[in-house]
Parts: sequence; C-alpha cells; structure tokens
Amino acid sequence: MQLSKFKDKDLVLALAQSIKVKSKNFENLRIMHVCGTHENSIVRYALRDLLPENIKLLAGPGCPVCVTSSKDIDAIINYGIKNNCTIATFGDMLRVKGSNYSLFSASKMGLSVKMVYGLDEAIDFAKKSRQDVIFFSVGFETTAAPIASIIKSISLPENLSFFSVHKYTPNGVLELLKAGKLNIDALILPGHASIVSGLVPYEKVSSDFKLPCVAAGFEPVDILSTILMIINQIENNTCKVENEYERLLSYEGNKLAQKALNDVFDIVPSIWRGLGTIENSGFEFKKTYDFLNAKVKFNIPFSEDYIEEQKGCRCAEVILGLIEPTQCPMFSKVCNPHNPVGPCMVSDEGTCRNWWEVKGEI
Ligand code: SF4
Ligand code: SF4
Repeated sequence: MQLSKFKDKDLVLALAQSIKVKSKNFENLRIMHVCGTHENSIVRYALRDLLPENIKLLAGPGCPVCVTSSKDIDAIINYGIKNNCTIATFGDMLRVKGSNYSLFSASKMGLSVKMVYGLDEAIDFAKKSRQDVIFFSVGFETTAAPIASIIKSISLPENLSFFSVHKYTPNGVLELLKAGKLNIDALILPGHASIVSGLVPYEKVSSDFKLPCVAAGFEPVDILSTILMIINQIENNTCKVENEYERLLSYEGNKLAQKALNDVFDIVPSIWRGLGTIENSGFEFKKTYDFLNAKVKFNIPFSEDYIEEQKGCRCAEVILGLIEPTQCPMFSKVCNPHNPVGPCMVSDEGTCRNWWEVKGEI
C-alpha cells in the first residue's frame, strides 16, 4: 500500500464512523499512547475531534527530553562549568531547565555547550577540540541502539565520553503500571521505538494488566485503525499484543540493535522527571565501558537537592494523562515554546508543545 493511502480522507472518515458505531455502548475508554510522534500526528490531524466522547486519547510519557531528570541536568551543568569541558547534546535538550538553569542558559555563565544533530557530529567536534567533550546522551531505545552500535564499531577520540540518560520504554510503562500510576484501558505502542525492542516485551504489559496493546504507525489511518483494533479486542473480550505497523515493525524487533544494546548497556533504575525512580527503565554503560562513562571517569557529583517541576508547572500530570495541557494555568499564557516553563513545552515530541502549535498564542 502506498503511503498516501494512510492519509486518505475517505478512509479516515470511514474508520472514524466505524469507531463511533462500535463503541456506542462502551463506558468511557481511556487509551494511552507513549510516543511523542503519535501525539504530534493526533494533534496535527485533529484526530481527537473525530472520536466519540466516550473515547479518550491520552498522551503518556512519550518524549525522552521531557523525562530527563533535573538531577542529571544539574549534575552535568555543575561539572561542565567547574571543569571547563564541553557538553554536546541535541538542540531540544539544551533548552530544558534543570533546577535553576538549562544547558543553554548556563552557557551565559561560562558553560561550553555544543548543539549536535547526532553522535557523529559530537565525534568530529571532539577530534578538533582540546577539551574534554561529554555527550549528554538522551533518548529511548531508538536513539540508544545506534549509539551503542557506533560505540562498538569505531574508535572514539580519547577526549570524548558519554553521560547516559537513555530510557527503556517497555519497562518504563510496565513499572508505571505496577506502581498504579496509569489509569488506562488500553495502550497504543510506539511504532518507532518498537522497531528496536520488538513487541515481545509488551506481552507482559498486556497479560499482567489485562490491557489490549497495539503498535501503531504515524499516519491518521494508522492511528484510527489501531483504535479500531483495540475496540475489537475489548468487544471480543480479548487482550493481546497486536501490530498495526507491520510495514516496518516486526514482532521480534531488530535483533542486531538489541544485541548492541545488550553489549553496551545494563538496564538500571532511572529517574523519570516528575515520576520518580522507575526500576529497570534506564540504560547505563556496562563496567567494561567505564572509560567512556563520564559519570565514572570523572566521578561526577550528583545533588539530592534538585527541583523537577518549576512552581505551578504540571508536566508530571500531563505525562501521566491526568490532565490535558490546557488545564495547566500557565499553558500559553506564561509557558510557550519561546519561554518553556516545563520540559513538555520544549521538544516537538512534548505534549504541551504539540498542543500549543494548534491551540496556543503568545
Ligand atoms: S524516540 Fe521515536 S518512539 Fe520514542 S517518542 Fe520519539 S518518535 Fe516516538
Ligand atoms: S504548560 Fe508548561 S508549565 Fe504547564 S504543564 Fe505544560 S510545560 Fe509544564
């Protein structure tokens, strides 16, 4: 099927109609997705407007930038300023505030920062630099896997090291469910991240919590078909992991990428901003990579005295699907992409940022 088919207006309207008819007798259904790009498509194509009132589409903790803890941001800023090294990272990450400063605002106090589009650029920069360069390595398994492959396959400049804040989506979701923090009836699984992890890890999510789980692509037809697949499961009283994104995603995932991840990283407890420490949800370098792990190599100090949410910011409730961005009193008035108060307003994958793009005004 051509990609344009997945945007076909008639198909979109037909799917919306089927959803309406099939869900007529349902109680309220809370369906959460855990991918910032899904929220982007849902907002861009106004898909919520096509759904009946009893179907709520919630945005979960789907953006790696949003869930990076202030504790890590503070630590890297403090270390970088005191030790005169350069922090290289993606553009969005530069703008997220830690307890007091973002990497970008700290650059006005002398922190050397370098915005990069990928690790290759950080490597080139380190080769030309006389300072230590620390790559603030952010992202879910989609980003962690290529970084692990690069680390395994090429020799890196000696002055380059890594500060990993990578997170593992399936375990993050599983642990949040175990902790009773998600009040949901079904899950839309992240198409991109699942290309790496596969759908196997979600079997436990589905069976332990009796949640229909369907992996979705990113076009409007993908998302509405996924909702229909979820409704069919509920109607048939079944509960399983299904794959709507078969054109790119296999059930087993990418074995080579999984091997690279397993070779380079251990799965450890990790702080998700505003949600606290989540067991088994972060990627940290194995001991054999201590020489690349900035936290170990430089013995970077961490303070327990850190602030995850600025006064009045409700990002934690947004990423747990407890409120919609517009319910935050700061939305659009004080908080906007030019002055992001919380992390959810910073990146293109942040829920508040996505909502602002269509509803906001300065
Ligand atoms: S990294 Fe990929 S899967 Fe994860 S939120 Fe972003 S687009 Fe979605
Ligand atoms: S509008 Fe701003 S302050 Fe409010 S929850 Fe969103 S990012 Fe946080």
